[in-house]
Amino acid sequence: MSSVTVRVPAKVNVQLAVGPLRDDGYHDLVNVFHAVSIYDEVEAKESEAVKISVTGDSADQVPLDDGNLAIQAARALAKHAGRSYGVDLIIRKAIPVAGGMAGGSADAAGALVACNELWGLGLPTEDLMEIAADLGSDVPFALLGGTAVGTGRGEQLTPLETSGTFHWVFAVADGGLSTAKVYAECDRLRHATGEQVAWPQTDDALLDALATGNAPALGAALTNDLQAAALMLRPSLARTLDVGRGHGALGAIVSGSGPTCAFLAADAEHARDLAVALTSTEVCRTATPAEGPTPGAHAI
Ligand code: ATP
Repeated sequence: MSSVTVRVPAKVNVQLAVGPLRDDGYHDLVNVFHAVSIYDEVEAKESEAVKISVTGDSADQVPLDDGNLAIQAARALAKHAGRSYGVDLIIRKAIPVAGGMAGGSADAAGALVACNELWGLGLPTEDLMEIAADLGSDVPFALLGGTAVGTGRGEQLTPLETSGTFHWVFAVADGGLSTAKVYAECDRLRHATGEQVAWPQTDDALLDALATGNAPALGAALTNDLQAAALMLRPSLARTLDVGRGHGALGAIVSGSGPTCAFLAADAEHARDLAVALTSTEVCRTATPAEGPTPGAHAI
């Protein structure tokens, strides 16, 4: 095989509960991941050396050196196989960069699946999941897709049963937010207010809404402990959320560390209307309807 192309979904966190800061600098999380139909494509082509190119939305903000998570993934896979392989990685981005939708992690998962096939390694998913967890907390979920609870740093995954399809709109902002800065702001706010930080727990009402496909109940149960920090760093997002709510969104939330905002719609038509309303009121750069859950990284 001389070329393999893999499609990988973005994620939204329908619940993100952030526990106390750990000694290792991470937080214990309860992170309910939900894969949605905004996809990056990662193509892996035969090459002597490791190379990368990136096209698509905000491609100029993506590193082209060893800082790129897809390159790190290819190198980690080659190391696991005990060989030095080359690959030409071509990434077509649709997931907003530094947007709180785990685009870099998606590309890492895509590179793992694509290189596993290109190099004929035939490694089972369990091996790829282990390599993925070492690359970053969000990478295993990009392999798995669907809907799942992540605990620990978010990387220990339990898949969740869901019913039906949920309809979303993602309002993409100009420029990104650094995940590390948003966590630091969350810690600062908690310290400043003397908040007692509870051990993170899954929300039974949210799990029930997912299991039964109840969109109004899911909308009411959406929570994100990073939202206050993201709003502090990007106050204009408050208006974006308000506009979505004002146009009947069943739920409105900052996606992960932001600045993308996620809106749950009643159905596909409502999602299209909501996207038009968000774009025409100029509270975001662009608004994209999407569905979830969708499968994880897979060859096309
Ligand atoms: P998360 O939701 O996982 O916290 P994010 O969606 O906010 O992440 P990413 O798009 O994953 O953010 O990018 C975060 C940073 O990672 C970027 O600013 C960029 O410097 C770096 N990066 C490394 N590899 C990639 C990649 N393949 N695509 C996008 N960004 C990448």
